[in-house]
Amino acid sequence: MSISKSFHRPKKAQWSYWERELGWDRTFASYLTYRPLERNYDFVVVGAGFTGLSAAYHLAKRHSKAKIALLDRYLPPLGASTRNAGFACIGTVGEFIADSQLEQPECVWDRMHERWKGLTLLRSILGDQVIGYESLGGHELFTEEEEFERVATYLASCNTALKQRTGLDQWYNLARINGYNAIQMPREGQLQPAKAWARFAQLCEQIGIHLACGRKLVDMTRKMDGLSLTVEEGAKRSHQQFHSSSVILATNAFSKALRRDVSVSPGRGLVLLTKALNSQPWQGTFHAQRGYIYFRNVGTDRLLLGGGRHMDVSGEKTTQFGVNTEIKAFLLRYMKEILVIDPSEVEFEWSGIMGFTPDKNPVIRTELSGNIAIAVGLSGMGVALSTELGRKAAELF
Ligand SMILES: Cc1cc2nc3c(=O)[nH]c(=O)nc-3n(C[C@H](O)[C@H](O)[C@H](O)COP(=O)(O)OP(=O)(O)OC[C@H]3O[C@@H](n4cnc5c(N)ncnc54)[C@H](O)[C@@H]3O)c2cc1C
Repeated sequence: MSISKSFHRPKKAQWSYWERELGWDRTFASYLTYRPLERNYDFVVVGAGFTGLSAAYHLAKRHSKAKIALLDRYLPPLGASTRNAGFACIGTVGEFIADSQLEQPECVWDRMHERWKGLTLLRSILGDQVIGYESLGGHELFTEEEEFERVATYLASCNTALKQRTGLDQWYNLARINGYNAIQMPREGQLQPAKAWARFAQLCEQIGIHLACGRKLVDMTRKMDGLSLTVEEGAKRSHQQFHSSSVILATNAFSKALRRDVSVSPGRGLVLLTKALNSQPWQGTFHAQRGYIYFRNVGTDRLLLGGGRHMDVSGEKTTQFGVNTEIKAFLLRYMKEILVIDPSEVEFEWSGIMGFTPDKNPVIRTELSGNIAIAVGLSGMGVALSTELGRKAAELF
């Protein structure tokens, strides 16, 4: 059956630049065929973002004979994993200071370490070349002298804490870039998220996981021997029922629709991307305003700018995709005034939905006598954390 007819897909206008660049139809038509769901699975993973892919992949590695399905509402999946900014990062000193007002510094450094482990695992499974990984380094940029001096006082303690955890030094150095004070992060990299998704999905298929996109889980009922699952499928939204002994929920921002008590709130993020520019002086990844603003090169001549959620935090607590015009205006001003790039050069815009927990630590737990595992709430740095979180979810079985 042709891929375009059988999978429920977002409208092309909603696609991220990464999804367009990859060319979904070309990439997937070649190997991802539509298969009906079977009546019984040993494991079903719900949500085929990076967390779900990693959970399914690691389940298959641990239980080589198990029958595993990985469901998503859409193809390409419609959440954050193919719609983010592609920063391979673990956090800035400015974010460390903000986070350590909510919890002990040790917890914040531990989470940075988890992100580093996640990134290392992601790269080792997928390979740098195929996911467009580049080690161009990153910077935290400061437009105010006083703020730079305040943040810089924490630099040495962050370097020491991360060295104790990872064995590596040189996480943060003082720097100047394009006329601004900055903290340089030589270990930071960048990747093409849709390429990473496609490679992970391909690996999952190759090891026998049934990647069942275009199926939305709408109900889960406990039975004596596991769970009865109901999915909605296709344009007519017909319902199908099947059975699984165990389920991993990796539905991130959308988890409350299935489990009301999960403490994850949605947070929409906006990304803008320029055309190829004659001069693009921002090479590498950049963070500003405690991580609420981020920008990077795409190729050598395009500039990606995203974030600005702090301009309307409550308005962006939504699972609806779309563009907040106030935030877009703020980002365009930043592009013009701070980055000195003409805002009329913006060619693409898209949104993605993140899942935030109150303290930025993901939720990972089992319930219903261990039949269901929940691995959600990646907050703003899930490219890094998701592979490790998915691996941990698989280890619960
Ligand atoms: C604009 C933006 C920029 C970002 N930039 C970065 C960055 O540069 N670096 C970084 O580290 N992180 C970044 N992030 C965060 C990162 O992308 C996420 O934390 C990460 O992708 C989360 O992965 P996930 O698999 O947990 O969730 P998702 O990718 O959101 O996957 C959840 C999936 O569940 C599916 N789903 C939901 N409900 C159901 C259901 N009932 N049935 C079936 N399927 C369902 C959805 O379709 C979705 O595909 C960014 C996020 C956004 C939105």
